[in-house]
Amino acid sequence: MEWDALSLVEAAAERPLIERRAVLRGGFYEMQARTVIERVAASAGLAQEWGVSPYRGCAHACVGCGARGGHRRLGLDAGRDFDTRVVVKANAVERLRAELGRWDGRPLAVGVSGDVYQAAERTYRLMPGLVGALGAAGVPFTVYTKSPLVLRDAALLVEAGAQVAVSIAFVDERIRRAVEPGAPSAQARLELVAALVEAGVECRVRMSPVLPLLGDGADQLAATVRRIAQTGASGVEAVVLRLPPATRAWFERWLGGEHPGLVERYAELFDGAGFPSADYEGRISGQIAALCGRYGLPYGAPLPRVRAAVGAAQLSLV
Ligand code: SF4
Repeated sequence: MEWDALSLVEAAAERPLIERRAVLRGGFYEMQARTVIERVAASAGLAQEWGVSPYRGCAHACVGCGARGGHRRLGLDAGRDFDTRVVVKANAVERLRAELGRWDGRPLAVGVSGDVYQAAERTYRLMPGLVGALGAAGVPFTVYTKSPLVLRDAALLVEAGAQVAVSIAFVDERIRRAVEPGAPSAQARLELVAALVEAGVECRVRMSPVLPLLGDGADQLAATVRRIAQTGASGVEAVVLRLPPATRAWFERWLGGEHPGLVERYAELFDGAGFPSADYEGRISGQIAALCGRYGLPYGAPLPRVRAAVGAAQLSLV
């Protein structure tokens, strides 16, 4: 692989922070991370409090992605930069092995700041090493993805006792093209779930994000749950769109352009921290839970089982 730029350590102070800490190689910002186990923001709506993310930024370019704010901390913008300037923790496997030696065994979410099986993974192949390290440590973990590339590692995931959660919030391809322009189609993801189940991977579906007034119609939810039920998924969980500040700015810009009549209604529905009203969220969760009952799917987000005792030493993560 050719270098696109020299080391940027000495770069001018006004350049984005990431350009002083990383090299640009093959279109990716490649850096050496100090830590890979990070606290998961409440706005992610995940059951795990801690997560591992070898990539920051995501070519799937979901308009409502809650991880966008991380790019601002790197001096990049949370809009187009998040979609196109992906940061790679090139030493993620080595760091994770070191951190797992001090980890207390709590479940980990894998793929919080960017899809771990996005295009960058074809180049860097970090996931086999990460999955192997987590499996060897006996730490329960869930891989969050929308990408069929995860099938490449199916045997490793089975061996490691991993749980995979594939996000499918709607099966309407027009909506998918509008709000997840870089992600595989809903049909491809439904087929992915079936293939993972066939390969013996514990796989559930995360209906996330449910989009108020765009993807929350009774018929839309029913069609989605019905199609998921045909895949053999072990269960479903539903998470309504969250709009933390950086995500909100990008999402509202899109909403104002595509659905200007909904801007005010969104403003009423979401609080200042970007959470939807409890009434709305409860109603949607109830509807989806009832649909799951109708189609014989467990509803909720059980964490993967602990496979083996691990060192009980508490890791200090300051
Ligand atoms: S696939 Fe996940 S991480 Fe990637 S943009 Fe979409 S929501 Fe964000």
